[in-house]
Amino acid sequence: MISVAIDGPSGAGKSSISKTVAKKLGFIHVDTGALYRALAYTFIKNGINLGDEISIENLLKTTNVKIKHINGVQSVFVNDENITGSIRTEEVSMGASNISKMPIIRSFLLGLQRQIAAENNVIMDGRDIGTVVLPNADVKIFLTASPQKRAERRYKELLEKNENIVYNDIIEDIIKRDYQDEHREIAPLKPAEDSVLVDTSDLNFDESVQKITEVIEAKI
Ligand code: C5P
Repeated sequence: MISVAIDGPSGAGKSSISKTVAKKLGFIHVDTGALYRALAYTFIKNGINLGDEISIENLLKTTNVKIKHINGVQSVFVNDENITGSIRTEEVSMGASNISKMPIIRSFLLGLQRQIAAENNVIMDGRDIGTVVLPNADVKIFLTASPQKRAERRYKELLEKNENIVYNDIIEDIIKRDYQDEHREIAPLKPAEDSVLVDTSDLNFDESVQKITEVIEAKI
């Protein structure tokens, strides 16, 4: 099976670009952030304080997370409930970043990610795919963009959904989440040594898709 690992900070376009490139290549796209979001959402819904590792550990014993691809689009299920539509809020984003530093959370999700890559040709995106989850991936890309560009894109996306949002809150959240993801002890966000760096600050969506496709095709 062929594996492409795409890591990078939030808002660099990893998921939307990966989804389009995967479709072109006939691979499945796995957005691993959705797994961390699914757990954060489940804990919040159950009234668990995200710093309370004992309650988290207990709830994990009865939590089953699965990914299914329906018409090529990824859905996430927790205990057979499709929660894909509930995990894209700012509260869940920050919650996912808060719990993702816990070893118990990372080891809970590791096997599932590796199993999907063992059974499919994948483009898997996240923070630690090239460094930890799939260290032998055939292609590793670190996809990034300036915090300002990432905040602008996110702001526009939320405006289109008519969400009541303040630009300064978005950029603050992005900078805080980058910091947390880059500075945690386990599996911090960083480029794998053998990754190709792609900066999308000055590329539009189609140009980014083109660039990533070229990098992958050059390697496989
Ligand atoms: O990619 P997305 O923004 O959906 O990820 C949400 C959070 O999940 C990230 O801020 C990060 O803390 C965590 N995450 C992670 N490792 C991954 C994917 C996501 O720690 N492979």
